[in-house]
This record gives sequence, C-alpha cells and structure tokens, in this order.
Amino acid sequence: MQDSYDVIIVGGGITGASLLYMLSRYTDAKRILLLEKFDSFAALNSDSINNAQTLHFGDIETNYSLEKSRETKEEAEIVLKYLSMLPKKEYDSITKRCGKMVLGVGEDEIQKLDKIYDSGLKHIFPGLKKIGPNEIAKLEPNVMKKRNMEEKVQALKSDNGQMMNFRNLTYSFVKRAKLASKGRVPIKLNTKVTSIEGSQGDFQILANGKKYHSKFVVFCSGSYSLYFAKMMGYEKNLSILCVGGNFYTAPKVLNGKVYRVQMGGIPFAAVHGDPDITNPHITRFGPTVTIYPELEKGNSSTFSDYMKTFDFDLATTSSLFNILLNKDIRRILWNNMFYDMPGIGTGIFLKNEVSKIVPSLTVKDVKLAPQMGGIRPQIIDENKKALVLGESKIKEQGIIFNITPSPGATSCLASAIEDTSYICDQIGLNLDIKAIERNLVNKDSMPITMRKLKNW
Ligand SMILES: Cc1cc2nc3c(=O)[nH]c(=O)nc-3n(C[C@H](O)[C@H](O)[C@H](O)COP(=O)(O)OP(=O)(O)OC[C@H]3O[C@@H](n4cnc5c(N)ncnc54)[C@H](O)[C@@H]3O)c2cc1C
Repeated sequence: MQDSYDVIIVGGGITGASLLYMLSRYTDAKRILLLEKFDSFAALNSDSINNAQTLHFGDIETNYSLEKSRETKEEAEIVLKYLSMLPKKEYDSITKRCGKMVLGVGEDEIQKLDKIYDSGLKHIFPGLKKIGPNEIAKLEPNVMKKRNMEEKVQALKSDNGQMMNFRNLTYSFVKRAKLASKGRVPIKLNTKVTSIEGSQGDFQILANGKKYHSKFVVFCSGSYSLYFAKMMGYEKNLSILCVGGNFYTAPKVLNGKVYRVQMGGIPFAAVHGDPDITNPHITRFGPTVTIYPELEKGNSSTFSDYMKTFDFDLATTSSLFNILLNKDIRRILWNNMFYDMPGIGTGIFLKNEVSKIVPSLTVKDVKLAPQMGGIRPQIIDENKKALVLGESKIKEQGIIFNITPSPGATSCLASAIEDTSYICDQIGLNLDIKAIERNLVNKDSMPITMRKLKNW
C-alpha cells in the first residue's frame, strides 16, 4: 500500500529525532516516516534558546531522589557515548564542558545539601565535592562579590558540567538517521497531524488532509502527546499542567552553571544561572515557573486543545487541591506570578532569585528575554493526586505517547532505546542489541539501560 509504514513518528523535536536515529541505525525497519508540523526540527522546547541547555546528571538536582539521580546519570552517559562517536566539529557544535555547582544559601539550605550529600549522593558521584566560600569565590567570583558577610554559603561542586545545544543534537540525530538508512528515511516538515484512528497493525493518521497508514505510531509531540492519547481514549486519569519557563539575561557574570537548592519532590528546578552555549557574552537566569492555559508557549491558538487535554472534572479538581496543599509549590507559584509582569517583575525576580546567586547585579543589568523559554508539560496523576516528576511514557498496543518535561532532552536516547526495543517486540523487527551495547552503553552503568533495552 502506498504511504504505508512500519513506524510513524509524530514530532521532530529531540525525542522524535533520537528515535528516528535509533530505528534507522539499530533495526531493520524498512519504512519509517517522521511528520513535523513546523518547517524545521527542534522548533519548540528542543531549541537551545528555549531550554536551560543542561545535560542533567542528577548530582546538583536536589529535588531528585537517589534513584532518579542514578537513572539520570546513566541517561546522560548514553548521550556522552553518542557524542564521543562524532567528528570533532560536530561534537563542538553540540556541547562544551563547563563548571557546575549547586549553591546553598543560609543554614536551612546548607543542612539540606549536607543531608543529601551524605545520604548517598557522594557515592553515586565520587567527583562531587563540598566547597566553602573561598573555593566558591575562586570558581565564581561574582557569587561571593558584595555578598553579606553574615550570610552562610556552601556548595556542591560537580566535575561533569556540560552545556548542550540540544537543537544541534537534534539535527545530528536526523543527519545520522539519513546516513544509516542511506537516505531512505522520509521526513515531512510542514505536516501537521490532526487525527489518528485504527489499532495496532493499521493506524491511519491524517496530516495536511492526507492519510498515512502505519503498523506502529509514536507521538513525540511534547504536550500534544497527551492530547492525542486522550483523543484515542487512553489515560483518562492523567491531566496536564503546562508550566511555562521564561529566562532573564544579564551580561556574563558566571563562568559555569550555578544551580540553587530545590525542595525534594518538586518537579521543576529552582531558578539557576547558566552560561549560554549560543552566546558567550551573556548569563541566563531562569527558568521561571508560570502556569499557562496553552499547550505551546505564546501560542494562544492551542488554548482549546489545552482545555481538552486538561479535561477538567472532579478528579482534576481534587488533584489540584492536593497539589496546592504543598506549601513549597504554593510559594513557588505565588512568587513566580510576578516575575513576568512588566514594570515590577524584574525587581522582584532580582530580589527573590538572582541576588541569591549574584548579589551585585542590579535592575539595570537584568532583562526579561521574551523570545526565550518553553513549556514543561507536567503530568498530573489523578489516581495519586500528585504531579509526576520527570518524563511520562504511555505504552499501549502498537502505540507510544512520550510526554517530556525536564530532563527530557537529556533522556532522549534512553527513551529512544526503550521505544525501539518495544517497537521491535511488537511488530517483529530485528534489533541490533550488540551494536547498542558497544556504541551507547557504559559498562559500569548497564543495569538501567539494559532494563530499557530488554524491555523489562
Ligand atoms: C524552560 C525549560 C528548560 C528546560 N531545560 C532543560 C535542560 O536544561 N535539560 C534537559 O535535559 N531538558 C530541559 N528541558 C526539557 C526539554 O527541553 C524537553 O524535554 C525536550 O526538548 C522535549 O523534546 P520533545 O522532542 O519531546 O518535545 P519538543 O521539543 O517540544 O518537540 C515536539 C515536536 O512535536 C511537534 N508536534 C506537536 N504536535 C504536532 C502535530 N500535531 N503534528 C506534527 N508535529 C507536531 C512540534 O512541532 C515539535 O517540533 C527544559 C524545558 C523547558 C521548557
């Protein structure tokens, strides 16, 4: 049948592109199609301008559990293994090493850092070291400059800081997928999927008025993945909070990444300061945390799709109520309400967030960058009445939906390995496990990756 495929991938961000690469390079799938509604790859959250450009390892993310830290480290290492196979020019266009620390300000935060470090983080990350004010000042002079001498500070300094141009990584996956398939992988840009029907073996996808058939479909469509899952009647017990993240910029004041302590279980990082891999002259502060009633940032035409995905009912209301019982979440949402406001926002953001990292900056130095930022599709599990930490994957017969808040760009290849293995099982393709082990898996971090690979 014409326009009939083994696998159709919907979405050309980093999740879709990494899956395209895995399927083309490590399976014998003959017919794969990627559909993307914009005219380029990585147009939304995977664009470097829209995310924080961090390859997350789980060492300075104090809101992660130890298990999540271990898993994130493995996922990041798969990306590093991929990068190590690239020619130098391509590698340099994607990543750069940098300093990285998490800063505790005040007695409470320092105690929290000590507790996390001693409870096991130091064993997972032997290179993670506690440092005091003098060492902080050597690495990041502006963190200590003009700081109140009474204010206690301590940091955990990591040895694996890595800034990422996730957009260029997305393009690298597409390029390598084309090379592996000798140009056989069709990709259709400017092609918007509007509906899907059918079941495993023959899904029918409608895009730009044309019908495509596929044995297996993977939605890598960011927040729209849950929209399509709900359209097909799956996961009625999930809802979504679209957590917008904006950035402020300042002249370059930091050498590396300076994260702040975040409360455990909160699914988004506290505001941090980062160098920008695309512009060495600035430091970015963010992301902020604002709830938007839209599936794509700044795109009000996605409002009605958001409402369908949010699916407001009694279960959603009681889940939201339960989430808002958490006083840290309430405080974060309350503070962040003001950060994007013209006029007063900059001053409040500076006082509450930036000055904790770089005390000497003034209102004149920092500016909201409206062109930057994206949406983190944070899933609400209505059975648990809680926000889900990290990415969600809905796997059904013949279909997968990937919903990807942070650290979704870091976990792209781990997710692609898991999806590829599932697809091969379901539609009888061959998977070159040995080549994946050889090329992408670190010997000392086998367990989690192998679980994903063997689909346990
Ligand atoms: C403020 C912020 C900071 C972040 N910082 C980090 C970080 O430092 N490190 C990290 O690892 N992660 C970070 N993340 C998360 C990371 O950016 C995302 O997890 C990742 O980019 C998701 O990639 P994706 O391909 O799944 O989604 P996206 O990049 O959003 O791509 C989805 C694609 O699907 C397409 N699409 C949607 N609907 C359709 C349709 N109907 N038809 C065709 N195509 C469609 C879209 O056009 C888009 O191209 C951050 C996110 C935000 C918002």
